[in-house]
Amino acid sequence: MNHQIVPLKAGLYFVATPIGTARDITLRALDILASADVIAAEDTRSLRRLLEIHGVPLGQRPLLAYHDHSGAGTRGKLLDYLSQGKSVAYASEAGTPLIADPGYHLSRDASEAGYLVTSAPGPSAIITALSLAGLPTDAFFFAGFMPNAKNARKTGIEAVKDVPGTLVFYESPRRLVEMLKDAAHVLGGNRQAVVCRELTKKFEEVQRGTLLELVDIFHERTIKGEIVVLIDRAGANESSEDDVETALRKALETMTVRDASEVVAQAFGVNKRKIYSMALSMKD
Ligand code: SAM
Repeated sequence: MNHQIVPLKAGLYFVATPIGTARDITLRALDILASADVIAAEDTRSLRRLLEIHGVPLGQRPLLAYHDHSGAGTRGKLLDYLSQGKSVAYASEAGTPLIADPGYHLSRDASEAGYLVTSAPGPSAIITALSLAGLPTDAFFFAGFMPNAKNARKTGIEAVKDVPGTLVFYESPRRLVEMLKDAAHVLGGNRQAVVCRELTKKFEEVQRGTLLELVDIFHERTIKGEIVVLIDRAGANESSEDDVETALRKALETMTVRDASEVVAQAFGVNKRKIYSMALSMKD
């Protein structure tokens, strides 16, 4: 048995659940699920299944379905439990509640009413994707799901074009290629990007490349599963070929091919060999 029954203070506990592999749940999450007076879940069936997998008995405790569209009804009931001094655990279907998932209205109302709101942190597709994508993580912006309609999607991407950090999107497999094409159109096809699919699951896949390379990789495939798209910030890689060429020509006026290539490659953060062959052809 991995869980323990622990005394919980009255309050609302947001509990993160796995995004693929059931054993990614934390021990504390199990303790809270085992000990809370009341459990609420976006999807009660998947929560029951998770409890079963980990041998956590629900017993006679209430299990309520709640998502933000449940409206004031169920939310009112959960707030009533809090007012009676109960501990309430809430889990969304997968990952961290409130992250492209329900919980925001509940969190806001519970904290405004002065109840303890706390969390048992754990998996989230955003962090999982950032940790293995290989793009900078010093700053990132989670843009959630882009709209389905093409124009609205382009406008959505345009709005985050100049964010000085890695962009993180959730995307449906059906729209992945269209989204990558729109991103290439708005941000430039040369931006580095990463598609993470089925994270922590059997068919986990990570594809890295420019936006155009990724369109090429995915456009003829039937894509299934859950997807996170990450896109590098505008920066060194965004310098146009023209900028690189101009700088290289200038450098060649005063430097050897080798030195000029080295300086320009470093300045623009681009591949040295590519610049070297460009410099050779210029000299010719
Ligand atoms: N609350 C969740 C979290 O913390 O990541 C996200 C819920 S949101 C409704 C579901 C979306 O998250 C999916 O459509 C996909 O974009 C992303 N996602 C969730 N699990 C994933 C996984 N295992 N691999 C890749 N993306 C995943």
